[in-house]
Amino acid sequence: MTENPFFETWGTPFGLPPFDRISPEHFPPAFDRAMAEHDAEIAAITASPAAPTFANTIEVLERSGRLLDRVSRVFFNLDVSNTNDALEAIARDYAPKLAQHQTRIALNERLFERICELHAQRQTLGLAVDQLRLLERHHLRLVRSGALLRSEQKSRMAAIAERLAVLHTLFGQNVLHDERDWQLTLDEVELDGLPDFARAAAAQAAAERGIAGHWVVTLARSSAEPFLTFSSRRDLRRNLWQAWTARGSHQGAKDNMPIIHEIMALRAEQAQLLGYSDFAAYRLDDSMAKTAHAVEGLLQQVWGPAKDKARAELAKLEKVARGEGLNEPIEPWDWRYYAEKVRQAEYNLDEAEVKPYFVLHNMVQAAFDTAGRLFGVTFTERSDLPVYHPDVRVWEVRDSADAHVGVFLHDNFARPGKRSGAWSSRYRDQETLDGAVAPIVVNNNNFARGEPTLLSFDDALTLFHEFGHGLHSLLSRVRYRSQSGTAVRRDFVEFPSQIFDHWMSAPETLRSYARHYRTGEPIPEELLRRLLAARTFNQGFATVEYTGSALLDLELHCEPSPQKLDLARFEREFLDRIGMPREVGLRHRPTHFQHLFAGGGYAAGYYAYLWAEVLDADGFAAFTEAGDVFDPELAARLKTIYSAGDTRDPMELYRAFRSRDPKIAPLLEKRGLTASQ
Ligand SMILES: [Zn+2]
Repeated sequence: MTENPFFETWGTPFGLPPFDRISPEHFPPAFDRAMAEHDAEIAAITASPAAPTFANTIEVLERSGRLLDRVSRVFFNLDVSNTNDALEAIARDYAPKLAQHQTRIALNERLFERICELHAQRQTLGLAVDQLRLLERHHLRLVRSGALLRSEQKSRMAAIAERLAVLHTLFGQNVLHDERDWQLTLDEVELDGLPDFARAAAAQAAAERGIAGHWVVTLARSSAEPFLTFSSRRDLRRNLWQAWTARGSHQGAKDNMPIIHEIMALRAEQAQLLGYSDFAAYRLDDSMAKTAHAVEGLLQQVWGPAKDKARAELAKLEKVARGEGLNEPIEPWDWRYYAEKVRQAEYNLDEAEVKPYFVLHNMVQAAFDTAGRLFGVTFTERSDLPVYHPDVRVWEVRDSADAHVGVFLHDNFARPGKRSGAWSSRYRDQETLDGAVAPIVVNNNNFARGEPTLLSFDDALTLFHEFGHGLHSLLSRVRYRSQSGTAVRRDFVEFPSQIFDHWMSAPETLRSYARHYRTGEPIPEELLRRLLAARTFNQGFATVEYTGSALLDLELHCEPSPQKLDLARFEREFLDRIGMPREVGLRHRPTHFQHLFAGGGYAAGYYAYLWAEVLDADGFAAFTEAGDVFDPELAARLKTIYSAGDTRDPMELYRAFRSRDPKIAPLLEKRGLTASQ
């Protein structure tokens, strides 16, 4: 057997994982050894006869588990970006073992005693601000994992965590299988209405699936949405829509319905063991929002105006549809199609006219240059480094003093074996505890590849959004790994990403980087004006689609006894009760709502995007008020937020940047939800 790369020091540039030498069989022994090492490190802390100090307990804890961190990050990044049967089997096998391992440490009584002792004297230990917060967070984390419970309750907490890890893994795999299994194969006559870019992407998808000469539409959002927007074949739009919204709900071995039931019941039990009435109360207690009431308050502030706006949008859609001879009600598979026609009529704006100006590599450059102007970082491509798939490109990031900042990997295209959606992750976090460790960041998108790849306006926003997360990791300047970059509360983590979106749609950016893929001509001023004027177009639809899903998440996780829930009926009745316009459709239905069930991160937390949008709309308004979207003084203050990680309270960070509390008005205005719009 070849040497296991996880047992060696990596001699690769920047300590990048030697992807070319890592294969699936390396993971099980690496996980086993890494967990054993981690256990030994924890045992050394708890066996120490010395009285607990910050250095011999918290800092040693921060140093522990390094091998496990290294193996886990490589594994879980590959498993979402480039999975295969072998990795999926290892994920099923190791997800529960890893959960069990983490719970065992979280419920280690000797460790908790030492941390409690420190916590009790925290104000007299002479700790710096970041250290005090770190100690408080470690203490809270253990309490929230069940450290204060009786021993039989602790065992139950451990069993729940282990089982949840299995269920989350299965949920994500089931969605991926449904997405992989289904495709809409088209002949030339079925391409009616599709613009060139959509045809080219469909031809490319067919070629990748070995049926060159045909056209394939898949369930990736970047493939499905253009088809729903342009195809004049209502029957095919309907087929696609039904497959898209049925992901995860096919009866049999890959059905996510029973998995959701079990997850919900376990979460409710977990919350109740910890003294909370329901999972949402438990989850939100450790967030900026604090309570379900506060979340509901925000969601309701946009829900009513969003429905009103969607209703007004629907009336316009119906008018166009009648004009085109549709004598039936508008269905969810019609919305994007007729909305596009309204957009063309009202703003004289056509997606197919806009898209040729959004070339992927230009927009990537725009993101890099924006980060450069705001924060002084530069990106230099390196083609000599190992990658895990030929699609991946790698950049070295340096600061204005030309010092190394980190490494940025960009994995932009949809392919089988890659989870849908877009996300930012890390192979290594920034820290300085024992000398500077630079971050290695990866961003994933699921763009439909073309020659060249052209993005929609929304795709370009997604690119910038994930890049904002990437910057949050890259610009991190903290001492401790567990406070690094994006390790902030869930409803704050979307602030650095979402505020970055605003620079994508800034006219300054579009004038320079939105250039026609053939001629290189910048986007005409007059088209740019129409494009920006249309920004609030269809925002009723977009807000309803998102907010409906956020309300559903909250309602589900506020349920004290979800085991009794009939999920299909719940969804129907809930949508009825909130007055969900049936023509819109949820952005995510429960059986493929990966934010909630393919992991626990966004459970009772899908509202986080809107919560952070209050901050990002208000925060960007500071730049427009200053009359310069690159105002250096504001940019420097914003950079502080990107650098601070979780070393300070998020609202404190925001106030230091904005010099006041956030206001909701800019968000309503941005989405066109104010009465005047
Ligand atoms: Zn995000």
